[in-house]
Amino acid sequence: MRFIIATGNKDKVREINEILAGTEFEAVSMKEAGFNPEIIEDGSTFEENALIKAKAVHALCNEYVMADDSGLCIDALDGAPGIYSARFCGEDSTYPEKFAKINEMLEGVPDEKRTAHFTCAIAVVRPDGSSFTVEEYFNGVLLKEPQGENGFGYDPIFFVPEYNMTSAEMSIDLKNSMSHRGKALRLMVEKLLEK
Ligand code: IMP
Repeated sequence: MRFIIATGNKDKVREINEILAGTEFEAVSMKEAGFNPEIIEDGSTFEENALIKAKAVHALCNEYVMADDSGLCIDALDGAPGIYSARFCGEDSTYPEKFAKINEMLEGVPDEKRTAHFTCAIAVVRPDGSSFTVEEYFNGVLLKEPQGENGFGYDPIFFVPEYNMTSAEMSIDLKNSMSHRGKALRLMVEKLLEK
């Protein structure tokens, strides 16, 4: 059974296929499936945005469709940048610029209050139009200086105390075992297979 992922990102599709191995589902990107809708992500939560994306693709094919939305939520900033994580500081800003802006905004905040979490919401729309969402989190503390070369986005400043390293210093497998996205994907597959 095709499971269409509302993304053009091949790594995401591969990761989902690893988790779906042994099930009746096979993930394909919406582009591979021939769909390329213009999607306006104007929801106010991660779950709303994930559902908007999944429904936009489902409207074109009436198949199983999945979409995700994720971001970094900083406690001392009331959850910002949240759904705006990719665009934080402007679309074209680099991550070092984003890190500098975070340090500026957190000036005066003691180290133990530099807590944050990544959030990942996933929405699935079934062929009949019914849908469900799941949301998972990954807790950490924000460093002032980046550390590590793996991962992407905010990983170099996202320190995980239990492992004494940032998520940019983790192997892919270790990060997946505890990350917001890894946990949300596993929960999504569990729900998908519930009869
Ligand atoms: P999207 O849901 O793929 O659009 O991701 C939103 C943004 O959140 C990314 O561009 C990153 O800035 C940030 N983000 C989400 N997940 C991670 C992660 O696992 N590591 C680092 N940054 C992340």
